[in-house]
Amino acid sequence: MTSATERRELLKAVYDEARVCVRCPLHQTRTQVVFGSGNADAELMFVGEAPGANEDRQGLPFVGQAGKLLEKLLDEIGMTRQDVFICNVLKCRPPSNRDPQPNEIHSCEGYLRSQVELIEPTMICTLGNFATKLLRDDNTGISRLHGHVQELTIGARTVRLYPLYHPAAALYTPATLEALRADFHRIPELLALGAPEQPEPVPELAEPIPEPAKPEAPTPAADRGSASGDRGATAGDRGSAAGDRRASPGERGSADHAADQLGLF
Ligand code: URA
Repeated sequence: MTSATERRELLKAVYDEARVCVRCPLHQTRTQVVFGSGNADAELMFVGEAPGANEDRQGLPFVGQAGKLLEKLLDEIGMTRQDVFICNVLKCRPPSNRDPQPNEIHSCEGYLRSQVELIEPTMICTLGNFATKLLRDDNTGISRLHGHVQELTIGARTVRLYPLYHPAAALYTPATLEALRADFHRIPELLALGAPEQPEPVPELAEPIPEPAKPEAPTPAADRGSASGDRGATAGDRGSAAGDRRASPGERGSADHAADQLGLF
């Protein structure tokens, strides 16, 4: 079981990798990487398409008109951004908000899969076609799938996938807004179902046979071995430099710069 603090630390490590990402040409035109924001311990994740101009400027997802609608719909079901984690298929803005290209989606996909693996949501709402097609690995469009929940295994995790219309599509089309709102209002009852049955964990490899202890006295370098720099140490082992996710950014201090930029709770 991963604690909220551990999830937050591990997510920050992925963010630190993503924010200097040069895997696709979008790094040449972005202002900054929009990794995602919200609750690292969320039951519910939203996955949109890609950052737009506002998101690119602020480094946070869904902060424009579509984001305002998303916040309004969350409010209607008694939730806020702090209860959920919000991110996108692409972490960088495509120039002129053009559609994500297959090479960009492919290059970025690992970040989304890491986010799902670390946050371990019980439900993922895909917003629009790009997120829905990517996670379902199928070309069926959102107008057929919206409002239909399905169980889907992503990596080691089975989640409820609940495709929704993209809020941007609902901004100017009343019928789409009506459908989005009706689907959205079913979220609490679906969350109340809890996590779907999880797949059997893959058995761990057998422990390696320990080497016999060396007779010599340990060197100073060996003494330093596993305390803090050990790659095998878990986030929990590394301590709580970032503090608890409920601490305010000011309380957490400068070691937490990445999380502050991320809007992680
Ligand atoms: N803002 C985002 O962050 N993602 C979208 O898909 C649209 C607007």
